[in-house]
Amino acid sequence: HVADLIAAGEVVERPASAVKELVENAVDAGATQITVEVQNGGMTFLRVTDSGCGIAPEDAPTAFLRHATSKIRTKEDLAAIGTLGFRGEALAAISSVSRIDLLTKTAEAEGVSLHLEGGVVTSQQPAGCPQGTTILVRELFYNTPARMKFMKSDAAEASAVFSVVQQQALAHPEISFRFLKDGQEQLHTDGQGDRMAAIYAIYGRELANNMLSVDGSWEKLRVRGFVTRPTATRGNRALQYFFLNGRFIRSRLLSAALEEAYRNQMMTGRFPACVLE
Ligand code: ADP
Ligand code: MG
Repeated sequence: HVADLIAAGEVVERPASAVKELVENAVDAGATQITVEVQNGGMTFLRVTDSGCGIAPEDAPTAFLRHATSKIRTKEDLAAIGTLGFRGEALAAISSVSRIDLLTKTAEAEGVSLHLEGGVVTSQQPAGCPQGTTILVRELFYNTPARMKFMKSDAAEASAVFSVVQQQALAHPEISFRFLKDGQEQLHTDGQGDRMAAIYAIYGRELANNMLSVDGSWEKLRVRGFVTRPTATRGNRALQYFFLNGRFIRSRLLSAALEEAYRNQMMTGRFPACVLE
């Protein structure tokens, strides 16, 4: 348990990092729809619902054990990881610092509901539910008051969660994402696979209409996506999104390369926006 708490310090820094892990699990589960809901910035209530493959009843308690993953079976698998997760750490870490309700169902088996307190399963029951998984995380950090003190305002935590959902929605236009904050819908992407549609939903019409599609390759590398016209620049780099193998990354090198392409076409202190993969 102590090891889980220490790991939690690294894996779950704040609600947004828990959301990132839960959404990555939903993506790995092959979900076509993912809904993220938070109340109080995710501190009291944080729920991720997906339409993925679900977890079999006999595997559900195991999923919360440290180093328990279904994504690696042999040591050879380690050399060819095709999933976002593989260390089996997230659920153990998140559950050790919260109260969790899990509701999940696979195509084959009946559904199951599980309740955990501080990482310990306190009840397990058969449950009727659609295929997929819902994880409700309540009272994050209730048993680690020192960590709780580091949280910012509800608004700041909710906005960090929103950023994570936006990154995931841009990375996966083939998945329909919804984000609700205190019961109000903040984002809904259609999941039809069109990245421009996701950009519309996230950037808004004005900026989206000022983006150009780009596609280039060199040796084994390929870069494609959308960049702003030199006239539609931003005051900061917040809307520069780079994805590498489906993962959102921040990279000074890539930002510098992007900005180099606009040299002499942009005033200093202005920055292009982009969604590039
Ligand atoms: P990892 O993602 O590294 O395997 P996690 O702790 O995040 O580790 O999850 C543990 C296991 O629980 C996963 O390997 C997967 O089998 C299962 N799991 C977690 N979330 C989901 C989900 N949303 N849908 C289906 N299975 C899930
Ligand atoms: Mg994971």
